[in-house]
Amino acid sequence: MTGGKERSKERREKRLQEISLLRTIPYSDHRRWWTSETIAVVTGGNRGIGFEITRQLAGHGLTVILTSRDTEVGIEAVKVLQEAGLLVEFHQLDIVDPQSITNFADWIQETHGGLDILVNNAGVNFNVGSENSVEHAEQVINTNYYGTKNVIDTMIPLMKPSSSGARIVNISSRLGRLNGKKNRIEDDALREQLSNDDLLSEELIDETLTRFLEQTKDSSWTSGGWPQTFTDYSISKLAINLYTRYLARKLADRPEGEKICVNCFCPGWVKTAMTGWIGNISVEDAADTGVWLALLPGQPASGKFFAERREINF
Ligand code: NAP
Repeated sequence: MTGGKERSKERREKRLQEISLLRTIPYSDHRRWWTSETIAVVTGGNRGIGFEITRQLAGHGLTVILTSRDTEVGIEAVKVLQEAGLLVEFHQLDIVDPQSITNFADWIQETHGGLDILVNNAGVNFNVGSENSVEHAEQVINTNYYGTKNVIDTMIPLMKPSSSGARIVNISSRLGRLNGKKNRIEDDALREQLSNDDLLSEELIDETLTRFLEQTKDSSWTSGGWPQTFTDYSISKLAINLYTRYLARKLADRPEGEKICVNCFCPGWVKTAMTGWIGNISVEDAADTGVWLALLPGQPASGKFFAERREINF
């Protein structure tokens, strides 16, 4: 590339960066319920959507704990944000390692007295394009569902009481829709059961996942009526959506001042390592709905699914 072209590319990138910073200020100050002592935790914050959510939340003046399973990579990511003047700290957190979750919980309690916002972003996917393998199904379900669930369950007792309510934001996907037109579970009776808030339980979610994993082991999953594309990933995100609904109901009875709202959102098809950088949404746009949900004024609704700042059907 010639020097002129390089400079113009640099200028363009800088402009884009400035635009994206401007776009992260839709919350006028009078609606601002948070301070620099409001603590947000982001899992898998070292890259992709998680890094961008960290950057945008810190850009709004919160203290953000960027967590990453790899300490060296996480510290590097934090440095970039600290050099931009943002209040960002690092702590190691591998969401599939119970000891790592315990260590993190002890640290956040001792250092910050707990947390106000939890963004569950960490996740894995091994399907690329039209290829649909369940070779890594166990890892996908263990990370995207059980890992996230264990982090949530450990963090809930540490969430700080406040009049605005603490917030949990789960990054999900439209691929995990229960009643989507495409890619849904074909078993009408199971879908009916999972749709019914009165029947939905942790046990039912576990049973569904166990059945799927058993079928991946004896190779009967292809005729099991599971989602047809990105099968294991779709089921892991379906489970996150189900748990979001279940948890919202479970938390609904908490007394005033100790409310916790939990919602999930789909960021769209995003240009990150997960999609091989071929998505059609930038990380800035992908992060937007998550940051919006985390910072909504008042006591937000709970147990809902969002995309592009709008509620969508599960
Ligand atoms: P990404 O660039 O691959 O980032 C995934 C992040 O999760 C990385 O930081 C990764 O850490 C971390 N992670 C994976 N396993 C972990 C574990 N056991 N403990 C802690 N961190 C772990 O992908 P992304 O696109 O930003 O994805 C972020 C979230 O958005 C995921 O939940 C994904 O399912 C969801 N999502 C993405 C899209 C999309 O189109 N990209 C669409 C819908 C939903 P390492 O760097 O150490 O691997």
